[in-house]
Amino acid sequence: FICLIILIGYSIQAQNSSKNDHKIEKEIDSILKLMTLEEKIGQMTMYNGSWDLTGPPGTVSAKDKFEKLKNGKIGAMLNVTSAEATREAQKAVMEHTRLKIPLVFGYDVIHGYKTIFPIPLGESASWDLELMEKSASIAAKEASAAGIHWTFAPMIDVSRDARWGRVMEGAGEDPYYNSVVGVARIKGFQGDDLSASHTIAACAKHFAGYGFAEAGKDYNSVDIGVYELHNSILPPFKAAADANVATFMNAFNEIDGIPATAHKYLQRDVLKDGWNWEGLMVSDWGSIGEMIAHGYARDKTHAGELAIKGGSDMDMESSAYEIGLKNLVEENKVSMDLVDDAVKRVLRLKMKLGLFKDPYKYSNLDREESEIYTAAHQEIAREAGRKSIVLLKNDTILNNNSSLLPLKPNQKIAIIGDLADDKDTPLGNWRAKAERKSAVSLLEGIKNAIAPENITFAQGPAFVIDELEEGKRQFLWPLKFNESDTSGTADALKIASHADVVIVVMGENAYQTGEGRSQVDIQINKLQKDFLKKVRKANPNTVLVLMNGRPLDLSWESENISTILETWHLGSQAGNAIADVLFGKYNPSGKLPISFPRSVGQEPLFYNQKNTGRPYSQNTVTFSGYTDSEKTALYPFGFGLSYTSFKYDKLKLSDTTMTKNGKILASIEVTNIGDKDGEEVVQLYIRDLIGSLTRPVKELKGFKKLMIKKGETKTVSFEITKDQLEFYTVDKIWDVEPGNFQLGIGGDSQIKLGAKFQVN
Ligand code: BGC
Repeated sequence: FICLIILIGYSIQAQNSSKNDHKIEKEIDSILKLMTLEEKIGQMTMYNGSWDLTGPPGTVSAKDKFEKLKNGKIGAMLNVTSAEATREAQKAVMEHTRLKIPLVFGYDVIHGYKTIFPIPLGESASWDLELMEKSASIAAKEASAAGIHWTFAPMIDVSRDARWGRVMEGAGEDPYYNSVVGVARIKGFQGDDLSASHTIAACAKHFAGYGFAEAGKDYNSVDIGVYELHNSILPPFKAAADANVATFMNAFNEIDGIPATAHKYLQRDVLKDGWNWEGLMVSDWGSIGEMIAHGYARDKTHAGELAIKGGSDMDMESSAYEIGLKNLVEENKVSMDLVDDAVKRVLRLKMKLGLFKDPYKYSNLDREESEIYTAAHQEIAREAGRKSIVLLKNDTILNNNSSLLPLKPNQKIAIIGDLADDKDTPLGNWRAKAERKSAVSLLEGIKNAIAPENITFAQGPAFVIDELEEGKRQFLWPLKFNESDTSGTADALKIASHADVVIVVMGENAYQTGEGRSQVDIQINKLQKDFLKKVRKANPNTVLVLMNGRPLDLSWESENISTILETWHLGSQAGNAIADVLFGKYNPSGKLPISFPRSVGQEPLFYNQKNTGRPYSQNTVTFSGYTDSEKTALYPFGFGLSYTSFKYDKLKLSDTTMTKNGKILASIEVTNIGDKDGEEVVQLYIRDLIGSLTRPVKELKGFKKLMIKKGETKTVSFEITKDQLEFYTVDKIWDVEPGNFQLGIGGDSQIKLGAKFQVN
């Protein structure tokens, strides 16, 4: 009876939502009928609206933009970021345009709005989907309180190359993991109801292939086959479309000669027609116009023609539609149907956000005062911070038979390094409206945690010279590293030699990763490393605390330093969160979402590679390896230590055969064999042994994060169904191919697969 009631409930809900959709479609059609071609093109045009920034010569002034708003030439704006400014721009549209179609305001709310959470790569190391959903929902709440309707996040580009600066913005190297993290973030931003005033539209980006830029160079060409495209790049986007993400953004790169912005196969055949996705495709910033530089379009009008035909609905900052689309339609080069389809998608977004009902509802000055940067949000930022930390190394120190971490009460601690009291770097790149230098530094975090007489601090040599000037765009800021000034070294070494434990904080400046921030060298910068060597010599009880946005080459560090903690760029509460882990208030549980190499020469490096015909061990002949390095990762995907340890035992399958549409259960016993309670991320990997296409040596297909008390054993099981076994086959369909599979469950991607089963 209860089931019946629930079923009726669901069916009423489904009916209501389909009724609602039907109503929205009718409303959209009736508005569309009233629109002139110029008004339609206006809806397809997005302008940058940060009035205060003087853009490069030739850009449109604030005054001109207001004129355009009043004339219905702009349908969307980005970078207008306060309740007052959004209200003002909206007013221009609502009071002056003929049809009063409200503006939609977008912004890059990537890892928080003013309360800053760990950079997405860092937060992905938490493997805590609920947490990621929650931080996205807080970001949405804060952004919406300042008039923002739409974030350009999450980035779900699978990224396998540590040189690429934007690895910091996604969930790392694995397609499955990017899918589930992407969906969690979309749910967080969009909630259950997009029209609620605390939720905002999400944007799955960059469609597609942006993370596969050759040589990790940002914006570079991508050259992959259609099978790799479907198996490795598209799964997170399919998951996002299935999760009803409101918008997609296309990408700057070309794929196999065709710029993504005009990629008809991707945007129309696969996404809109194939997956029946009805959302809005926005171009990336100026990417329609950039097709001229690509050597694909003759001029802006031609670029606009290619873009609309290829499936780009909204032009962000190229003015290509504004300049050329009217003539293209009038000359019958572009059909009105294509324009109408794009405009409907824009109207649908605005309708779903509830903007037609109340265009000002997000621009609420009271909410902006009370809902941003609250104590409750800071608490979640701290939780997200500590859960994202990965303990990479915590060796036993020979003489006293224990490890340095967690730190013991009353130890004398020296804190050293240019990032130790840095209140800016932990905010990372894409820090939206965070106030500069608003993060809790590690020094502050430690001061909050222990008695002052146990702390000494010395900065040591500077790392980056030249501060980012207030108001200057971080994106255009050229980083200058200190290459010669070692002042500060002597003081630091002095306090190091007098301490029980030294905490050295180094890695990367906030702006070393992010868009346009690719690097060929991924070691800690030389001057810092030389300093680290001296500290290590002065006191071997050295804990290296890393702050960085990409995998680093830590081969020297892992060989010479006993204790290494990866803390990424951890957000507003960085220092407190790191202190929680250092002093054992929180037992670290993070695991790497991306492989850390032994050297940059291994990049792109990822665990789910193919076997090749010559996979053999490299101690005989260097088959499929290198003559000067091991081929494995230094710290593999899925890896991370705890203050306790876990033992995996008794892997079992409920059956060794299954049908294509059937299921089996895989289970394992996990025991906490250490002396502290701790959380473990239990990971399921599967290999399809023979396929119509070669298959990866293993693929993550599930995980569970759970608390296991000291001494306790928990049985963890996974259901294996077609979802984990299918792939895009040689016949260009998603299918499970009958044959043998192998499976393993363990604590990181280096586990050996054990149990075999067969699919009939
Ligand atoms: C980035 C996008 C971003 C857009 C708007 C572009 O340069 O590639 O990810 O959303 O700018 O700021």
